[in-house]
Amino acid sequence: MTVADTIKIPGRRSFARGIHPDDKKTLCSGSPAEILPTPQSVLIPLSQHIGAPCKAAVKPRTDVAVGDVVGDSEAFVSAPVHASVAGTTAAATVVTLPNGQHVGAIPITTAEEQPLTGRALWDDIYGGDWSIDAIDSFEPKRIAEAVRAAGLVGMGGATFPTHVKLARNPDKPIDTLLINGCECEPYLTSDHRLMLEAPKAIIAGAILAARAAGAERIIIAIEDNKPDAIEKMQSAAGGTGVDVVGVHTLYPMGGEKQLIVAVMAREVPTGGLPLDVGVVVVNVATAAAVARAVMREKPLTHRIISVTGEGIATPKNILAPVGASYADLIEFCGGLTDQASRVISGGPMMGFTLGDLETPVTKGTSGVVVLTEAQTRKADETACVRCGRCVEVCPLGLVPTRIALAARNNDWEMARRYYITACCECGCCAYVCPAEIPLVQLIRAGKAGMPRD
Ligand code: SF4
Ligand code: SF4
Repeated sequence: MTVADTIKIPGRRSFARGIHPDDKKTLCSGSPAEILPTPQSVLIPLSQHIGAPCKAAVKPRTDVAVGDVVGDSEAFVSAPVHASVAGTTAAATVVTLPNGQHVGAIPITTAEEQPLTGRALWDDIYGGDWSIDAIDSFEPKRIAEAVRAAGLVGMGGATFPTHVKLARNPDKPIDTLLINGCECEPYLTSDHRLMLEAPKAIIAGAILAARAAGAERIIIAIEDNKPDAIEKMQSAAGGTGVDVVGVHTLYPMGGEKQLIVAVMAREVPTGGLPLDVGVVVVNVATAAAVARAVMREKPLTHRIISVTGEGIATPKNILAPVGASYADLIEFCGGLTDQASRVISGGPMMGFTLGDLETPVTKGTSGVVVLTEAQTRKADETACVRCGRCVEVCPLGLVPTRIALAARNNDWEMARRYYITACCECGCCAYVCPAEIPLVQLIRAGKAGMPRD
């Protein structure tokens, strides 16, 4: 690395505190993405994002094509939802998402004839030409409009509407677009596979996103436990001006604040956002979806999902339609093993235990992890021994034990004083606690139950 590069990418590739859980990624990091056979039906939640839920845009018994809008909202912070299969709608229903949220949903019974299946579907989404030669012809406003129309949200799990992130704010100019290829959650490999299998779509989307946001620099950051992805992305980025940098493998490197420190050496203030320090962070899968939305005018209807863990017969990475059920995905992997005990939507650190396998996957579902009984057996909770380990690992410098205590006692004044809302729910504190205190669960419940100001 030259001196110029060091100035351009000043971070030390790491952040303070954090943990090193066993990443278990080899269970399916070597498995190329497979295409899920079209399910017999899908259920499209009307809220798959942070912000205003959509209203149904279709009546029951309506024939829809892949990509038709089935729900939309007039609110700026929202994102439309689209049919992921060709079929016929039924009356709107209510579904409980893995995070406990009850939302409206549109059932679609799949038609016998689908326009694209198998490899043709993959090629339509990620294959073909992603030439960046004509990218200058896309005006920033047009890019943001296409991103909004395509219903893009943060596909790393945050699900914040992407057009809002990319909207220019004259008071907060952006100089750098950080593309997040860290995928720091144990087990999950969907972003890793996307970087190996569709690197040019990610580069094209990154350049488009930077144009929309007004960012001059684009840096793709990838944890150094994925050297093949770093190499592939560097090769795809050649001659484009996009930098690809390896960062240390340290959980939660994929958190926006941690990544900005590691790459840019900038601290997002407590309660602040990346744009406060001139940065926008976009996940690699979202970047690829930006390219498809703008260059092919196609909405977000499918995504890659890792279905993995010791409780899955054959772990796989799967390209699946939004609205397919977790049961569809698990069945495609040969089902659960005899030892399977807990199904988690997302990764084991930040994911949610799933109660009903018929729940649909959404735009933000990056993985399904099934753990065994031996892995989920927990010792009884005991009293805090004041070892301070939770404080030592908190990447945000919080005092988890105090926040959890405040949440347990509904002491909202104390919870606020210890910045409960700043907690990113990474789970590092609970992971190291020798007393088995469910710190992150208490904090999460506290955040949900706390009265609004
Ligand atoms: S308090 Fe929140 S941010 Fe800190 S380690 Fe625990 S879960 Fe992570
Ligand atoms: S890690 Fe657990 S036992 Fe140690 S101080 Fe924190 S809450 Fe208490």
